Amino acid sequence: MSTLDKENISAQELSDFLQEIFRQDQSDPARTKAYDCHEKLLARQGDFLGSELEDAYWDSLSREALHIAQIEAAMKHDHESALKYVRLALDYAGRVQSGFYTFDWINYLKGTEAYLLSDAERLQAIAEGCDANRNVLQNLLRGLRQSGAPDYARDYSAVSAGASLQDLMPQENIEHLQRLLNLENIGRADPTEVAWQLALHHYPELAEVVREKDTSSRFDGGSIVCPLNEDEPVGIKYNNFDLSVIEELMQHRPKSVQLVAERLGIPRESMTPLLLKTFIFLHEVGHTYDYITRFLRPLREGQDPLPKTYATADWRTRFQDELAALPIPNMAPSQLRMFSIFAPLPELARQQGAKEEVIRRAEQDAEAVLQEQEEAYKRGESEQRADDFATKILREDILRNNA
Ligand SMILES: [Zn+2]
Repeated sequence: MSTLDKENISAQELSDFLQEIFRQDQSDPARTKAYDCHEKLLARQGDFLGSELEDAYWDSLSREALHIAQIEAAMKHDHESALKYVRLALDYAGRVQSGFYTFDWINYLKGTEAYLLSDAERLQAIAEGCDANRNVLQNLLRGLRQSGAPDYARDYSAVSAGASLQDLMPQENIEHLQRLLNLENIGRADPTEVAWQLALHHYPELAEVVREKDTSSRFDGGSIVCPLNEDEPVGIKYNNFDLSVIEELMQHRPKSVQLVAERLGIPRESMTPLLLKTFIFLHEVGHTYDYITRFLRPLREGQDPLPKTYATADWRTRFQDELAALPIPNMAPSQLRMFSIFAPLPELARQQGAKEEVIRRAEQDAEAVLQEQEEAYKRGESEQRADDFATKILREDILRNNA
């Protein structure tokens, strides 16, 4: 076993620990586990200092501290205590050294701090210069201006409550959907459910798909579950994200948000967490539609005795071909991002047999190559088809901006 292997094992263990903390944090939508998670992280500080994962560690601590601040403010109405935790979150965030913090987290924390100090002017200045969480900060600002004092539960919930259909679309579009789906009073319905009903309405072949909620992964929107044999259904696992998680995702992936907005034909500012969540869900449904219509159906029509088994094999082959064609071959972008925390990107690129020119660019600007990997992946056939599926339903029936 080489030294590198040993380092990887221990980095793996630390990474698992951070993921487990995150799972716990997310296991309760009210984030009441944040206190416990924060303690557990502090107890392992010695293991992370000086390790490859030190930045990820401070990042986790910073997030737990903010979650505690949010509970102190929203549930206990203790804005004083919330302020202490926001400052602690800022202190942790300030220890992150690398480009790991490519997003606007620190501004978000500073804006929250200004809010808790009732400093509307400072909050406004921060909100204007902040891409990430701008709408949260603007809601906080609006509340502060209206009443002169912070009331976090009231002002923050202006965002987090945005989880029903009427938060996603104007009343006339809701009426259109009600007529289309022959339903009544769906204004308060969960948009994911309505999106599913719409998909079924337009594509009845989806009726055989079994849906399953999956909350095990942080930023993973979900995935198709291909049947391994004839007895298994075509499945979809999807993440019924809390909108605050989408809010975070939008910070990490500004480019992706921009691309989705362009596809939908709307300005970037109109991309809300709820709209993106609905897009992500429909994208996953799009994968199952692609599987059923292009892989499974021809085999069924050809009377193949094992249609699901072979459809899944063909599906995997296509996926592997797509991965093989990426700048850094045979590694999905999310996986690459994860591994790039443990090992330098040029080294990973070399191991995966990337072209010299890609390795060189990875040496100069790792983040740019990570983004290229993501963009190349998205241009692949399966991603394009899933995006097309989601785009069509959103444009025609939810946003109705295709006319
Ligand atoms: Zn996909």
